[in-house]
Amino acid sequence: MTLPLAAHLIQPPSLLDLRGEFPGIGEEWAYLDGAATAQKPRVVVEAITRAYAEDYATVHRGVYQRSSRMTERYEAARDATSRFINGGGGEVIFVRGATEAINLVANSWGNAHVGAGDHILLTRLEHHANIVPWRMLADRVGAVLDVAPLTADGRIDTEALIALIGPRTRLVAIAHVSNVLGSVAEVPAIAAAAHAVGAKLLVDGCQATPRIAVDMVELGADFYCFSGHKLYGPTGIGVLWVKADSFQSMPPWQGGGSMIDRVTFEHITYLSGPQRFEAGTPHIVGAIGLHAAMDWVENIGLDALASHEHALLAMARAEMANRPGVRAFGPDDSAGILSFAVGDIHPHDVATILDEGGVAIRAGHHCAQPLMEELGVSATARASFSAHNDVADVERLMAAIDRVQRIFGV
Ligand code: PMP
Repeated sequence: MTLPLAAHLIQPPSLLDLRGEFPGIGEEWAYLDGAATAQKPRVVVEAITRAYAEDYATVHRGVYQRSSRMTERYEAARDATSRFINGGGGEVIFVRGATEAINLVANSWGNAHVGAGDHILLTRLEHHANIVPWRMLADRVGAVLDVAPLTADGRIDTEALIALIGPRTRLVAIAHVSNVLGSVAEVPAIAAAAHAVGAKLLVDGCQATPRIAVDMVELGADFYCFSGHKLYGPTGIGVLWVKADSFQSMPPWQGGGSMIDRVTFEHITYLSGPQRFEAGTPHIVGAIGLHAAMDWVENIGLDALASHEHALLAMARAEMANRPGVRAFGPDDSAGILSFAVGDIHPHDVATILDEGGVAIRAGHHCAQPLMEELGVSATARASFSAHNDVADVERLMAAIDRVQRIFGV
C-alpha cells in the first residue's frame, strides 16, 4: 500500500501570474525595486484617472452633490484602510507617507509625552525615517535614544530589545519588516514588553503592508504607519493609524483649514476625529487610489502574495548560494527583500551592469546608514520582489549577476 504524500512537500510553490496587470512593466523588464516604490496595477491607474477626469471635486466643504460624493469616497477610503489593517480600535489619519506619519507622532505625541531624561528605544535596522524624527525630538526635549542590537542573521534581537526597555522608556519604535534585510519583527512580544512599563510602541509598516497581512489587534502597536506608493497605490498618500487611547492624548500638529471646529484670534477649538491631523486640502485622489490598491491586494490575498514573493526570493537566495563570491544578507525567511554583495564590487557598479541586462535593482545605503555600519559595508545591492515578478525575473537577475562576475573576474 502506498501512503499519500503531503502535497505541500512535493508540489512546487504556487506562483501568481500578475505581470499582465501592470501596464508599466512589459515583457522584458525585471523590475526588482518594489521596496523603493511599487509599480501600479492597471486598476489603480484607472481609479486615479477616473477620479480626476469624471468625479473630481473637493471634500468636506462643498455643498454641491459632486463634492458630497467625493467626501463619501474619501471617507470610504479611510474605512477601507481601517478594515485592511483590522484597525477598528483606532483612528486612520491620512498623511503624505510613513515619513510624515512618524514626524507627526514625534511632534504631537512626542512633544506632549516625552521629556528630559526619558528614553526612546529604536533598533539598528531602522530606516532614517524612523531615526531622524526621534533624534530631533530627543534633542528638543533632552531625551535619550537607546538602540537595540540585531541577531547574527539580521533580525531585531527581541530578547536584547526587551532587556533594554526600562522604567524611563516612553516609546519603542521599530520597523515591522526591514527595508534592507526583509527580516520580520516579533511585534506582539515587543508590544507586550513596552506596555508592561507603560511605554508606547510605534511600528513602521512601510515594507510590511505590501507583503504580509497586518492586523492591529494581533500586533498590539499604539502607532502603525505605511506609505501608499509601496502598496501599489499612488505617491503622496500614507497612513498613520493610532490606537484610540493614544489618539485622545495627541495635540494637533499642523494647523490650518479643515482641522478646526471654531477659530477666533483669541482661541481655537479643533475637530475631534482624525481630520484634526489633516490640515489643508487633503490628497483626495491619493486616498481614492490607495483604496483601489488595497482592494486589488485584498482580492489577490496577502497570504498568496507573501508566498509568491517568498518563493521567488528563496529561488534567488539558492542561486546566490551556488555562486562563490556572492553574499546574501538577511535571514532565510525574509519577506520579499534580498540585499546582496558581489565580491567587493561597489553596488552601484553591480546595479549599473544589471540595468544593462534589463534588471532594475536598488543600490546604496537604502536610508539605513547605521545598518550599513553594522553590516560592515558602505552600501548593498538590493533586489525586492513584488506581485508582478516571476521566475523569468529571477533568471534575468542571476544571468546579470553572472555577467558582473565575468566582467570583474570575481
Ligand atoms: N520606512 C521604511 C522601512 C521604508 O522602506 C521607507 C521607504 N523607503 C520609509 C520608512 C519612508 O517611506 P516614505 O519615503 O514613503 O515616507
